Amino acid sequence: MSVYVVGHKIPDSDSICGAIALAYLKNQIGEPSIAARLGDLSPETAFILEKFGFEAPEFKTSYAGEEVFIVDHSELTQAPDDIAEATIVGIVDHHKLGDLTTSTPLECWIRPVGCSNTIIKMMYDFHGVAIPKDIAGIMMCAILSDTVIFKSPTCTTADIKCVEALAEIAGIEDFKELGMDMFKVKSAVEGTPARDLVMRDFKDFNMNGNKIGIGQLEVIDLSVFDDIKAELEADISALKAEGERHSVILLLTDIMKEGSELLVITDDAGLIERAYGIACENDRVWLDGVLSRKKQIVPQLQDALA
Ligand code: MG
Ligand code: MG
Ligand code: MG
Repeated sequence: MSVYVVGHKIPDSDSICGAIALAYLKNQIGEPSIAARLGDLSPETAFILEKFGFEAPEFKTSYAGEEVFIVDHSELTQAPDDIAEATIVGIVDHHKLGDLTTSTPLECWIRPVGCSNTIIKMMYDFHGVAIPKDIAGIMMCAILSDTVIFKSPTCTTADIKCVEALAEIAGIEDFKELGMDMFKVKSAVEGTPARDLVMRDFKDFNMNGNKIGIGQLEVIDLSVFDDIKAELEADISALKAEGERHSVILLLTDIMKEGSELLVITDDAGLIERAYGIACENDRVWLDGVLSRKKQIVPQLQDALA
């Protein structure tokens, strides 16, 4: 029986590249595995897979009766809907410990680093398996994406060393240039419907019983949103109502200015000020230095809702 290796809903490059890289490693050590995904590829991930010659992993949403290795999260809200009917054999992740539980022992690789692929590289080293050139390429790109080319406060020296080692294996001389090319792909938002943008990198969290949706768009220059900000706000407002959410926040992250503008729709008018010390003006607030949802947005919000 093969194990399905799968990342989170609305998969990002870490979830997709991590599933491919980990499934390859598992197959090499005699544990038959299949990379899978829970959703469509983002334009960034499509760019990465095309560059290194990979097909998208198998699209599969139901895992009842299967064995599953979870990548890049440990949250029920981000896992397959029927995960309770599957057997979780392992988790590789770099987020806060979530609420997935198991009834059998499992293999856990959880580290406070910038990317799941950095941990997967540690797994290759642990097992003494050589990383093929093309897999090194996609792993490297996933780390550059998750760490915002090392600018994110989630980035560690382990991530930087890992990218340097993978770049050498992949034969990429200027990995920062490739990283910028990826963020240029991410910045091309013109002509994309508001809902598609809001959902591109969207996660629901359960915070003390409150369903909170947080989306993030990372771009090179926030001016790309000037003409569509009102549309984005109308859309997150609709999304809040549709999903019975307590709040929906959209982070518009400027990776060059190194900060994020938050668009906020919430029932709790004081929430943002309690969490971040600055109040919204017309449901918007600029947070200087904020690049990371997992480190600079979620914990503060969770505390404010405790
Ligand atoms: Mg992710
Ligand atoms: Mg990740
Ligand atoms: Mg991210």
